Amino acid sequence: MKNLFRENEARRLVRKFPSYPEELILRLYTSRLIGIDQTLVLHGGGNTSVKLKVKNIVGEDQEVLFVKGSGGDLATIEPDGFVGLDLSGLRKLRRLGHLPDEEMENQLLVHKISARSPDPSVEALLHAFLPHRLVDHTHADAILILTNQKRANDFVREALGSKVGIVPYLPSGFALAKGVAEFYKRNPEVEAIVVLNHGIFTFGESARLSYETMIRYVGKAEAYIKNKIKGKLLVNLPSKPVRTKDFASSLARVCQVIRGVCAHRGHDGRMRRFYAEIRDGDEMRKASLGREAKEICQSGVLTPDHVIWTKNRAVYIEDIPKDDALLRQIVERRVNEFKVSYGKYFKSQVAEKKVKCQPLDPYPRIFLVKGVGLVALGFTRKAAQIAADIAEHAMQAKLLAMILGKYAPISDSHMFDMEYWSLQQKKLGKISPALLQGQIAVITGGGGAIGLGIADRLLAAGAVVVLSDIDEPRLEKVHSLLAKKYGAQQIDRVVFDVTDYTSVEKGFIEISRRLGGIDLLVPNAGIAHVAKIEDLLPETLDKVVGVNLKGTFNVIKASVPIFRRQGTGGNIVVVSSKNVFDPGAAFGAYSASKAGAHQMAKIAALELAEFGVRVNMVNPDAVFGDEQVSSRLWDLIGPERMKSRGLDPEGLREYYRQRSLLKISVTAEHVGNAVVFFASEQTPTTGATLPIDGGIPAAFPR
Ligand SMILES: [Zn+2]
Repeated sequence: MKNLFRENEARRLVRKFPSYPEELILRLYTSRLIGIDQTLVLHGGGNTSVKLKVKNIVGEDQEVLFVKGSGGDLATIEPDGFVGLDLSGLRKLRRLGHLPDEEMENQLLVHKISARSPDPSVEALLHAFLPHRLVDHTHADAILILTNQKRANDFVREALGSKVGIVPYLPSGFALAKGVAEFYKRNPEVEAIVVLNHGIFTFGESARLSYETMIRYVGKAEAYIKNKIKGKLLVNLPSKPVRTKDFASSLARVCQVIRGVCAHRGHDGRMRRFYAEIRDGDEMRKASLGREAKEICQSGVLTPDHVIWTKNRAVYIEDIPKDDALLRQIVERRVNEFKVSYGKYFKSQVAEKKVKCQPLDPYPRIFLVKGVGLVALGFTRKAAQIAADIAEHAMQAKLLAMILGKYAPISDSHMFDMEYWSLQQKKLGKISPALLQGQIAVITGGGGAIGLGIADRLLAAGAVVVLSDIDEPRLEKVHSLLAKKYGAQQIDRVVFDVTDYTSVEKGFIEISRRLGGIDLLVPNAGIAHVAKIEDLLPETLDKVVGVNLKGTFNVIKASVPIFRRQGTGGNIVVVSSKNVFDPGAAFGAYSASKAGAHQMAKIAALELAEFGVRVNMVNPDAVFGDEQVSSRLWDLIGPERMKSRGLDPEGLREYYRQRSLLKISVTAEHVGNAVVFFASEQTPTTGATLPIDGGIPAAFPR
């Protein structure tokens, strides 16, 4: 545990925010130092505060508690990430014997000094009740290794000494706030307070002191653990597990099956799909191979804060058989066991507590897969990543706790209170009602204008999109444009060559490793060539057919086993062409190869309906792109078309607009809207062609 406090860095930040009180900025600085250390807090865990005297609007002195906003991240907190609360008002609440959660939430809100600031941390009352100017709180791994023990008191005392107070586990909220404050009142000599199965609180009169006390005690805990377990490694842990040749494909298969088995219909009847996040580094693979693997899955979380992301227990998958049906059987069995046990836990807790509430979904979030590592699920990609990070830390900490003594998490009763605590559930945020939420879409030819337009519409509809292209600079450009607009987590890119089946397969394995599978495939990669048959070289025809026909075939073929393993249906939307029905002279290579791809898509519609996969075609005409991302097809054929018709670029666009019935220019976004329509399955349609051409009678599908 390293003390990262640097006086000059603290001063630099104070200068950077001249309009804020210096003490608030010093608070901000040490909060960030805590936030960047993942062994102290993870993803919005932990909270910090400072009490300041400020002038209110009529010039009177007012004591204000500035505490981290709920759901905020200490690592990146800004001055406005702290919520100001009227301290004297909050302190009066301590006189109460009991304060229901809803009223506590109300009290925290009505004591805000600015309506615009975020909601305060759910642990804000604890910060208010302790008398110190600064309070720091973390869920440090090392502290939890000591506290989640049958002999927790002994371990904490031995490791941290007599100046640390030990408070038994108390439910978060008013009870914990009051319990810790009362303890401090009786024991004012303590420098820190450890709450069993929860974490540690330090305090002081300066930001530096409170932070350094945190570092000192967590450091002590780490040193104690290291010393105690020296030489006592868990048995059966291979030091460096070897990766088999089929490691990547096994990992992809198991992710696809897990994701498929856990997809389900929500209360609203809509399909809920998860995104997957993998941790296949040495540590997690070792953990998956150890004798304790099952036990660390079956034991509860390190600190109750984690339960909303990971659920209390994990699922152990003991084998990845080569046979897909067998693999599915194993995963289904384990997921069903989890669901049954979750159902029992919910029922018994509801009965015991005599409360009425709607059960959360009973699906696991964390899987430990033998030889592979950890697979985490989340309704958003961010949620999956948070779950993976938390579970990775938790598994390692549990292994250490098991060597140290007897791992003992909190009871189901306490766990239920935390899991179903309304304030805690709020941190998950509302699941976007977006049309394609939960879907993973793959677009080939992602570096071009149509690829960009389709991706844009899919992202706006809530899907996570993976772009693919062999032209890396163009791919990067489109990727960064979309990442800026929709956030880096929503968009990814993988380079593969659609003309090479092995390359496609590898690309799809990589996509499954990053996200868990594929729900929507958009074969869009295409090239064109202008030549009459008389002048068309056979090898040029091969090249165009290679991308337009064989490329479409390759990606459809490689997606079939994925759709089959997932077992949740899916969509393929082939970007075909108006030319399939209405070809033009000197455009044989393009039109014929596109017609071939079109026919292949219809065959796919026939073959894939059996497992719920729909295959449809969109037929655009003359999509030009813009200055940012041009259409490669028009870069190629535009000059020739302009020459033969005696037009400039604007004139050419106008020519295509005027030749349609509706006199409307076709854009890439129009094509994207059609893809969104098919992917959202609003009609029972497969094998259909949707023209996106402004209306061209010769190209009406028939
Ligand atoms: Zn906490």
